[in-house]
Amino acid sequence: MKKYKITLLSGDGIGPEISEVSKKVLKKLSKNHNFDIEIIEKLFGGIAYEKCGTPAPEETLDQCKKSDAVLLACVGDIKYDSLARELRPESGLLKLRSALNLFANIRPVKIRKSLLDASTLKKEIVENVDLIVVRELIGGIYFGKPRGHITNTKIPKAFNTMSYDSAEIERITEIAIKIANQRNKKICSVDKSNVLEVSQLWRDTVLNITSKDKNISLSNMYVDNAAMQLVRDPGQFDVILTSNLFGDILSDLAAMLTGSIGMLPSASLNNNGPGVFEPVHGSAPDIAGKNIANPIAMLLSASMMLKIGLNEEEAAENLETAIDKVLSKGLRTADLADGSSEVLSCSEIGDKIMDEI
Ligand code: NAD
Repeated sequence: MKKYKITLLSGDGIGPEISEVSKKVLKKLSKNHNFDIEIIEKLFGGIAYEKCGTPAPEETLDQCKKSDAVLLACVGDIKYDSLARELRPESGLLKLRSALNLFANIRPVKIRKSLLDASTLKKEIVENVDLIVVRELIGGIYFGKPRGHITNTKIPKAFNTMSYDSAEIERITEIAIKIANQRNKKICSVDKSNVLEVSQLWRDTVLNITSKDKNISLSNMYVDNAAMQLVRDPGQFDVILTSNLFGDILSDLAAMLTGSIGMLPSASLNNNGPGVFEPVHGSAPDIAGKNIANPIAMLLSASMMLKIGLNEEEAAENLETAIDKVLSKGLRTADLADGSSEVLSCSEIGDKIMDEI
């Protein structure tokens, strides 16, 4: 029997509630599909800061490195906003990404037919949406140096540096090619090469690498146009390849095409070693502790973990089918509810999904 060791980071806010559902579901899937999954829970985020004085304790990072995959719920709360930057829960995320060298962030955005009405856009605009945003995650302006504040001037000034070398662009392009080859083989690379030198290098490098794979059809788009096109005609995209800053913004925009942020999973990967699988949403402090959060984004992240991280494709499909069956019966959490649906709590919808596995 195959044995997997995963690290579960429940984090803050709604994290523990949605993690509880994920744990139960993973245990059931492991039984049904004949593999063993050991779930090791570690402190991470605000809760880790409170108990250990840091949002990403060494012990947690070590355990993540030793695992086959990491499943992360979410971190953060307004009460940590006044802490020094390196002590905030979100800094823990950056530390985890760096520690595991997670340079590629993958966000699938797919409309589930039963949720067509949940989008704020018209049905006919979103019905064919099935795209993946591939975002570079550990370079660009979020990590570029020098950075800082200049305070000894007449008026205060602050600055950051957006930089990439061609090797960083090459490796993320190779990930996009791999993903595009499993889909419609179309990559749209998004940049701002009409203004930024770093984007010119991005565009040249992406062209150079993709031209080696004759199956791939490459297009380029400026980021401002990409934002517009994602709202105007999102069905045109297959794989969107972009840098850290542009990907951060565009992937949230793409996320809202589906109607609820409570439905979107993501994976952060490197070329070898464990990936981190996590919902796109944050810790939702406004609904934490009420048992009303939508656990599906985390379950879909668990599904990505099974498929990409553990190669348990059948179990992943079983889980996705179970989710679709529950949604098509009109069962919803509050964030997805319309007048005609039955509203369930986080744990109740979890149980319904378990019943379909
Ligand atoms: P958020 O994603 O936590 O919440 C935005 C809105 O969506 C809220 O109204 C929330 O109730 C709702 N929502 C989010 N997830 C939901 C779910 N699963 N089910 C139902 N409703 C859901 O974003 P925010 O309010 O901007 O941030 C809250 C905290 O989360 C902040 O501290 C922020 O820094 C942190 N954050 C963490 C991550 C992460 O852990 N990866 C990502 C984004 C934000």
